[in-house]
Amino acid sequence: MTATIDILDRLVAFNTVSRDSNLDLIRWVRDRLEAAGAATTLVPSEDGRKANLFATLGPADRPGVLLSGHSDVVPVEGQAWTGDPFRLTRRDGKLFGRGTADMKGFIAAALALFDRAAGRPLSQPLHLALSYDEEVGCLGVRRLIEMMAALPVRPRFCIVGEPTGMQVVTAHKGKTALRAECHGVECHSSLAPQGLNAIHMASDLLTGLRRIQDRLKDGGARDGAYDVPWTTIHAGVIQGGEVLNIVPNRCRLDFEIRHLPQDPVEPILDGIQAEADAIVRRLRPDFPSAALTVGELSSYPALDTDGTAEVVAFVKTLTGGNSTGKISFGTEGGLFQQRLSMPTVVCGPGSIGEAHKPDEFVAEDQLAACDRMLDALLVRLT
Ligand SMILES: [Zn+2]
Repeated sequence: MTATIDILDRLVAFNTVSRDSNLDLIRWVRDRLEAAGAATTLVPSEDGRKANLFATLGPADRPGVLLSGHSDVVPVEGQAWTGDPFRLTRRDGKLFGRGTADMKGFIAAALALFDRAAGRPLSQPLHLALSYDEEVGCLGVRRLIEMMAALPVRPRFCIVGEPTGMQVVTAHKGKTALRAECHGVECHSSLAPQGLNAIHMASDLLTGLRRIQDRLKDGGARDGAYDVPWTTIHAGVIQGGEVLNIVPNRCRLDFEIRHLPQDPVEPILDGIQAEADAIVRRLRPDFPSAALTVGELSSYPALDTDGTAEVVAFVKTLTGGNSTGKISFGTEGGLFQQRLSMPTVVCGPGSIGEAHKPDEFVAEDQLAACDRMLDALLVRLT
């Protein structure tokens, strides 16, 4: 436990906000893991400013267990922190600092486990995967997954340590973020009907999105295990117009789909495209240059592990918990499952309710529970 907190103290001190480099943290972790006897591989980003890390301790010719986490954290600007977000502070059984819950607490526990496993005769290997740019759409891990796809032996199970209060989570929603660009025709606002108002076009699309949302809510898949038991569509940014007396010729609408695993995203995307096409078709006779494009900003798949899968029973025996859950927020787990067919669950210390906020914290008893789970894992691998 003390070891885990000491490591967390070091990890929090690395400012790894997604827009900045994570290399200082990654190199520090790599050196530590190599000192524990692990074989490590860095998988750098295209521009070399960031890297993923993959580490293996024990026999690499057999399938083992992968612990997975992301090294990046969300920014602190505009948030009222009591103390320095990049210095771990201990108070009332809680450990405060950016990333303590999401998800350096889990990474600290994983690194402490590698120390405890060092020199032990492992019959199955222990793996660690650390990614970058998770918080901006699970981007970095894709390069790591490409590397792992070429491994002669893939891990048997994957545990993604996002904060679930140490509950074994078998599923989460997928997400696709999209941008619509509306191209109208500008003119003096006193002659408004002679122009094509791009904000009005965006508003028509928004009406279409809300119609699709209603259909999904009323007739789509439903799963009461989620906070919001249906697939949602939400518009988060709308930008258009310069001044009130010009009919605007450009408007941008950013929106997202968060879909249940049972609601495949492709038909929803087709429906949105059909709405966009219908809007343009109506306008073209009068405005031949009218255009409305919808493009993808980012996307990750849902995670959907069968409750009766071996990985679920395996991790439940490690935590001693009986129940499983499903979460609305996304993780890299969907990509591990989809791209590598790797049986995956999410289970980690802390609560997502404490993440991304000022005075983010992880409770010490949550970290202790994570240490116990990983101790039980070590017994299974020895
Ligand atoms: Zn996270």
